[in-house]
Amino acid sequence: MKCKECGRPIGYLEHREAMDYVGVELCSRHLKLIEKIKNEKETPKEALQLYYALKENGLNPMLEWWDGSKSVDIAISRVKLNIDIGTDYELMTHKQALEDLEETMQSFKNGFTNIRIPHILVKHYLSDTVKYVIGIVDGLKLNLKVVN
Ligand SMILES: [Zn+2]
Repeated sequence: MKCKECGRPIGYLEHREAMDYVGVELCSRHLKLIEKIKNEKETPKEALQLYYALKENGLNPMLEWWDGSKSVDIAISRVKLNIDIGTDYELMTHKQALEDLEETMQSFKNGFTNIRIPHILVKHYLSDTVKYVIGIVDGLKLNLKVVN
């Protein structure tokens, strides 16, 4: 077992603690750093898992990126892709849905693509989720080339 941030080998207890708190293999130093972000920004556990999975697959994601008006769970700045992890679908009202749509509109106006991924997808279908995000990034890269 290795820390996904620095590659340092980690022991059983360190591993278990990190898995309990954030669901990602991290050494105690990096667990502390990630926990700080998680507590400050209320980052969902699944956002951390997806962030490290994307990293492992060669993307260059940023965690809790500030887009000028709000914090985005994960951003891939090269292609202006923002990813939010949705955790409150059961409780979604039409008011929230409308706010989401407005947010999406604002992002498009600013040249960003916004996607919202339900946390259960990350939890149960992480590799498929990663595959599709990579596909979206590839698609955006192609589109950016066409524009430039
Ligand atoms: Zn580490």
